[in-house]
Amino acid sequence: KIRVRYAPSPTGLLHIGNARTALFNYLFARHHGGEFIIRIEDTDRKRHVEDGERSQLENLAWLGMDWDESPQNPNEKYGPYRQSERLDIYQKYVDELLESGKAYKSYKTEEEIAADREAQEAKGLPPVYVSEYKGMTEEEIASYISEREAQGIEPTVRIKVPEGSIYKWDDIVKGEIEFEGKNIGGDWVIQKRDGYPTYNFAVVVDDHLMDISHVIRGDDHIANTPKQLMIYEALDWEAPKFGHMTLIINSETGKKLSKRDTNTLQFIEDYRKKGFMNDAIFNFVALLGWNPGGEEEIFSKDELIKLFDESRLSKSPAAFDQKKLEWLDNQYIKNADSEVVFELAKPFLEEAGRLDEKSPYLVDLYKPQLKYGEEIIELTDLFYEDFPALTDEAKEVLSLETSPVVIKAFKEKLENLDDADFTKDNIFPLIKEVQKETGIKGKNLFMPIRIAVSGEMHGPELPDTIYLLGKDKAIAHLEENSK
Ligand code: GLU
Repeated sequence: KIRVRYAPSPTGLLHIGNARTALFNYLFARHHGGEFIIRIEDTDRKRHVEDGERSQLENLAWLGMDWDESPQNPNEKYGPYRQSERLDIYQKYVDELLESGKAYKSYKTEEEIAADREAQEAKGLPPVYVSEYKGMTEEEIASYISEREAQGIEPTVRIKVPEGSIYKWDDIVKGEIEFEGKNIGGDWVIQKRDGYPTYNFAVVVDDHLMDISHVIRGDDHIANTPKQLMIYEALDWEAPKFGHMTLIINSETGKKLSKRDTNTLQFIEDYRKKGFMNDAIFNFVALLGWNPGGEEEIFSKDELIKLFDESRLSKSPAAFDQKKLEWLDNQYIKNADSEVVFELAKPFLEEAGRLDEKSPYLVDLYKPQLKYGEEIIELTDLFYEDFPALTDEAKEVLSLETSPVVIKAFKEKLENLDDADFTKDNIFPLIKEVQKETGIKGKNLFMPIRIAVSGEMHGPELPDTIYLLGKDKAIAHLEENSK
């Protein structure tokens, strides 16, 4: 049975990279009719963030990933789902390894370990943990341990790297990978001084006991996999299949996407707060390092589940391009129901004090160009703020010989229109009259009027814009721009 997991450490908000890991596990599970579970890896107590778990789950749910098991809906057979609640389980396996002699208690202090490392560095050697028991007799070991215990030094538990060992696996993404035990860095800690397991140990115990069949994660974990294989071997367990997804690079810097990059938003929460559509983000994240082939870029969740094929996970880095996400979100907004788009924009209109009975109409007008909810504010500044500054391109249009002619003629028509007749439908005929009288048509007719009225070269239909602006404001703008 296929069972995969997303195992966040609740050290912060849901990042784009984590969302991608979760999403590929989700798609993989759903495509194969398997199970998708969420496990919270909260053993690093120093990095624990209050609310980290809630934020992770809330944002996954918002994105539309449903899960089969989690701390909130455990399967008794597999729980608990928070590592901090599984300490007795890890202890059992630590004890087993201690008993079999595959692991040992190490009383070296942090200072001693650091000193070893410095000495190695000074000799130009890679840092390798050297067992303190090397070359000691049984008696020496016994007296060393009792001495250290008398000093109150808490031990760590380290697992012995077997001599001549080789760890290999057939990576779902990268193919055959082989790693020599001697490059692991020496015997490593499976249990910390505070009794907590280390990540590389706990993850194996959990993946095994939770019947995880496939581990799909970021390739920053590749170096951990040999260590984890070591534990599977030591406990005589069958290892799951591993797949390591390529890293995500920032399309602007070309470097690995980092939480410190300031040129992009990277937390799902950020996009949610700006009024992006969850389905668009789901679609976008699914294409970070995967594609179903072909040119098409817009896929619903169901289509993605159907199309997902792990053999198409990309071997080269995925470029994260926020502009593309904005483009994609616009595609979704364009095709969404007006009510849905209005709900996206509403909080921003409200906050700006611009929410009124015309708002749904306004949002609908800008729907074709709206990239995310918050953008409604800048797109519609025209109706609330001073006339915008013109771009050079717009100025050029206004400086055409025919432009003032058109603008003046149209302004007069508007002025002569009774207030009662100022409706959306009555505006277009006025423009047509200007065309007839001046003989100017097409772009040279519409563009100057559009720019004079709105200051923009693009936007909703001209009659809509003029109608929303109101007769007086439209005339004032025309007057201003016909000089
Ligand atoms: N807690 C780990 C992380 O957040 C999970 C790694 C794994 O999937 O094994 O990176």
